[in-house]
This record gives sequence, structure tokens and C-alpha cells, in this order.
Amino acid sequence: MANKPPFIAGNWKMHLTIAEAKNLAAAIVKACVDLPEAEIVLAPPFTALHGVKKVLEDSSVQLAAQNLFWEEKGAFTGEISAPMLKDAGCQYMIIGHSERRQYFGETDDGVNRKIKAALRSGVFPIVCIGETLAERERGETMDVISQQIRGGLEGIGAGDFKSIVVAYEPVWAIGTGKTATPGQAEEVHSHIREKLAQKYGIGPAECAIILYGGSVKPANSFALLSEKNIDGFLVGGASLEAESFIQITREAIRASKEKK
Ligand code: PEP
Repeated sequence: MANKPPFIAGNWKMHLTIAEAKNLAAAIVKACVDLPEAEIVLAPPFTALHGVKKVLEDSSVQLAAQNLFWEEKGAFTGEISAPMLKDAGCQYMIIGHSERRQYFGETDDGVNRKIKAALRSGVFPIVCIGETLAERERGETMDVISQQIRGGLEGIGAGDFKSIVVAYEPVWAIGTGKTATPGQAEEVHSHIREKLAQKYGIGPAECAIILYGGSVKPANSFALLSEKNIDGFLVGGASLEAESFIQITREAIRASKEKK
């Protein structure tokens, strides 16, 4: 596990005009030339995907969508399908982000359909799971995580699982400034890997990329990524400024190199 390059994804959420997004992407591309040891993925809003893709051409930085609908095409006003997002240049798709679960009623069944739709289109899903504060306080964290893995990955075999990135994002830490301690995060990451090993076997589980997300910043990224089962980050707020996003990436690379 120690030799995986850190995987750092920036989720820009509902922020930035096309021009702002292109400028931010250009600044990140420029800095990434010196950071070949990390895999970097940017998830702009839909409107900026095409423009940002042009900025990312000729760089190793990859593009992600923040959501998709599971049907390929049809009368689904306001929705965007996996083939359309692939056409816009996306290699990854964030699926099941807690903000989608919380505000748009996304369920494990919907997450499962979206994962399958992304895989059918040859795009890599970044699947978000995580407990709310109330669930954590009731001692239900591991049960919630297990259920989200069971439901989200229902019917997905080991061959397809190789294309999936998992992101543990405790809901209480997203955009709140509260970060899970490295120990809290590692406890859940290790549980996730164990569940994946039960489902897919030890080899695929060891190879799986499991990201942490929730108020990641330059100051906490080294300690978090130093944990055995944390392979990278899904970064929200701190990805909206090139300098903090790059600093997080640098710290992650440093931690990854020191991991035994
Ligand atoms: C996120 O949007 O996935 C996220 C983790 O946000 P933040 O880093 O702002 O907590």
C-alpha cells in the first residue's frame, strides 16, 4: 500500500465562473509539473468542464464531474449522463457525495446505479461514504459505512471494482473546519479496507485507493496521509486556491515517501 502515489482530488462544488475555473486549473497545472509523484484530479462545476479540459490537455491532471444521472439519454430534464460527461473530457466522476445524499435525497441504490453507469462508460467512479455526527454519536459509524459499501457496490464484481476509488468523508467534517483526527480517520479507513477484502479478496482491497475528505488543509494533510490506510484526499474548500491545494499535495507526497 505504501507505494501508491497519493491521489488528490479537488471538488470545486458550485463555485467559479468558467474564466475563474480555467485560471485556477492553469495555476494547478503549472505547479503540478514539479509534482509528478501525485495523481491529481479536478472536479469543476458542469459549466466549466469543457473549458477546464482544454487547460488540462498536455498535462497529467485529470478531470472529474461532480455528479451524473444513470440513464444514457432521454427525457430527463436537467440531468447529464455518463457518456455526455465522458464526451466533455471526464475521466472520473464523484458519486454519492454527502451533499447530494443530504440535499438531493441520493440513496445507496441511486449511488449503485450511478457507479454502474460510470463503469459502462469507461469512467472511474469516486464513491463517497461517511457517517453523520448523530450516527457517530450513537456509535453507528462502522454499521453505516458497512451498509453504504454493501448497497453502493451491490452487483459490482472484482474486475469492475479495480476502477473504483472510495472516499471516506465524515459528514460532520465536510466544510465545517472540523477534521477527523488521523486516528479517527484511520480507524474507519481500516474498516473500509477490511469490508472490501471480505467482498473482493485481500489483493484488490490492498490495491484500492481510499481517500479521506473533510476539512483537509496544508496543516493536517501530512499527519492524515501518514496513516497506513489513507491513500489521498478529496478536498473541498482548500481546493479553491491553487496555493493551498498544491501545498496539500506536497505534504501528501512527503508523507507518502516516509510511509513504511
Ligand atoms: C468535499 O467537498 O468533499 C469536502 C471534503 O469539503 P471540505 O474539504 O471543504 O470539507
